[in-house]
Amino acid sequence: MKARHTYRIYPTDDQATQLAQTFGCVRYVWNWALNLRSVGFKNGERIGYTETSAALTLLKKRPELAWLNDVSSVPLQQTLRDLQTAYTNFFDKRAGYPGFKRKFGPQSAEYTKSAFSFDADTRTLALAKIGAIKVKWSRDIVLEPSSIRILRDAAGRYFVSTVVEVAAVALPATGETVGIDFGLNRLATLSTGERIANPKHSYRVQWRMKFLQRRLARKTKGSNRRKKAVHAAAKLHAKIADTRKDTAHKFSTEMVKRFDTIYIEDLNLRGMVKNHSLARSVSDAGIGMFTRLLESKAERYGRQVVKIDRWCPSSKMCSACGHINSAVVLGVKEWTCPHCGAHHDRDDNAAANIKAVGQTVSAHGGAVRPRKAQALQGKSRRSVNQQATSG
Ligand SMILES: [Zn+2]
Repeated sequence: MKARHTYRIYPTDDQATQLAQTFGCVRYVWNWALNLRSVGFKNGERIGYTETSAALTLLKKRPELAWLNDVSSVPLQQTLRDLQTAYTNFFDKRAGYPGFKRKFGPQSAEYTKSAFSFDADTRTLALAKIGAIKVKWSRDIVLEPSSIRILRDAAGRYFVSTVVEVAAVALPATGETVGIDFGLNRLATLSTGERIANPKHSYRVQWRMKFLQRRLARKTKGSNRRKKAVHAAAKLHAKIADTRKDTAHKFSTEMVKRFDTIYIEDLNLRGMVKNHSLARSVSDAGIGMFTRLLESKAERYGRQVVKIDRWCPSSKMCSACGHINSAVVLGVKEWTCPHCGAHHDRDDNAAANIKAVGQTVSAHGGAVRPRKAQALQGKSRRSVNQQATSG
C-alpha cells in the first residue's frame, strides 16, 4: 500500500528559478487544458485525458510556445492526469468544477520515476533538468519513492512529498472500540468520555492575523512594502496550517493504536461549510484531513474505520432510551431527555450514539441502512407469496 511523506527541501537560487519556470509551465498547461475541456463540455464534445495529451504534443511544437520544452515534460503530462482526476471528482460529486491555477499562492509539480532519481545509500534526490536537490530527511528510514511532488507554499517554503510503497502491519488487537463525534467547539469527543480540544493556536494568533491584514490594507498595490506584508501574512498562515496538521497526525495515530474499530459520522462537510457561522470552526478543526489520515492509518495498521450514515440523528437521539428530541438544535450544549430524564452533554451523547449505531450496523454486515434492508425483505417475501398463489 502507499504512504505519503513530506520533507522540506532547499533549492539553490538557480534551482528555485528553474522550479518557478516548471511551476509556470505546469500552470499554463493546466489552464490551457481546462479551457479546452470546458469549451468541449459546453458544446457537448467529449474531451478527455487522451485528447488533451495528444493536443499537448502539438502545442509544444508551436514556435511561440517553445519555452514549454525548457522544463521536464513529465510534470506537464502529470498535470493533465491531475485534471482528469479533478473532472472525475466533479462528475462523482466529490468536488466542484475544476478551477484555473493562479500565479500567486501554492504551486506544485509532480515527477514520476522517469523524471527523478533517488540513491538510497547517499539519500540523494535528483530531478530531471534540475539536478540534485538538498533535502532535510526528517525520518530515520527513507524508502525509494514511486513518485514525488515538489511544492512551494504561499510562504515561499519548498517541500517534496514522496509516495512510497509500504507493507501493511497489523497491530495486535486491543479489544477496544470507540465512537468519535467531531465537533465545532472541540476537535472531537470520544465515547470513552475523553474530549480533545481544537488546537488553540489559531485563535491565539488571530489578533496577529488581524493586525497583519490591517497593515496589508494600508499598503499601496505593487509596492515593496506590500510584498513584505503579504509574505508576513502567508508565513503566519503556514504556521497555523502546520499546527493543525500536527494535531491531526498525533491524534489519528493515537486512535489507531488504541482501538480496533473506530466509528465516525459520515459528515457532509461541504454542507456544513456553506453555513457561514460554522465555516471557520469547521476549517480550523480540519475534520476532513483528520478523517483521511484516520482511514489511511487504519488501512496500514489493520484497523477498521466505519462511517455511519448521515441519517442517524446522533445529536438528537437519547443514548439511554432512544427517544428523539427535536428540541436539540444547533447551539444546544446540554439537554435532558423528556422521556427517561437522562441528562446529556450534546457531544458525549452523540459519540455514544455513533458507537452504538456503528456496532449495530457492523453486526448486520457493512453499511446497510436498516430501513432499506427491511423494505427489500418485505418486497421479496411478497413476490414469493404471489408466485406461490399463482403457481
Ligand atoms: Zn431518554
